[in-house]
Amino acid sequence: PDKLVIMDDTAIRRALTRIAHEILEKNKGVDDSIMVGIRTRGIYIANRIAERIRDIEGIPMPVGELDITSYRDDRVRLNSVMAASSVQAPDIQDKRIILCDDVLYTGRTVRAAMDALIDLGRPRSIQLAVLVDRGHRELPIRPDYVGKNVPTSKLEQIEVKMNEVDRIDEVVIIQQ
Ligand code: 5GP
Ligand code: MG
Repeated sequence: PDKLVIMDDTAIRRALTRIAHEILEKNKGVDDSIMVGIRTRGIYIANRIAERIRDIEGIPMPVGELDITSYRDDRVRLNSVMAASSVQAPDIQDKRIILCDDVLYTGRTVRAAMDALIDLGRPRSIQLAVLVDRGHRELPIRPDYVGKNVPTSKLEQIEVKMNEVDRIDEVVIIQQ
């Protein structure tokens, strides 16, 4: 299969920095906001954006992680990934949630995540940030913040590598 690097470490860093600024601008700050990452790489995206927001604003930015074991069942958990906090899930009641994932495709994962969040408490709002939007939505879901729009065929695959687990920051498109 053909592999093409579409984002290198610099491109990823710049995209996440831009998204941090967009979040601050659109929401006029981040009062009562929580970043929530969707399992594995969405959590790293959420952490990185939160880190930048803390640097820019000089205020804490909580991060939670959502574990959607399968969107076909109801086993969804929200855990805190804040180093200083206990295993206590962050309280999302009336909070503005910025949901984060690495790749947006059909929209079904995001839909499951939103269902779970609404079940866990009543958030004031939910916005969506993704590193890559590869198209092919099957539900009326659109991201508020996008690192890169990558029109793909359904046969293509996006590979997102993140330093935290892959020892490199890179987005690759794989053509079968
Ligand atoms: P969806 O639920 O929107 O169909 O798919 C999005 C979820 O599946 C995300 O959590 C994402 O990590 C994963 N995903 C879907 N397509 C791809 C892809 O091409 N590459 C990667 N790395 N993940 C994908
Ligand atoms: Mg995923």
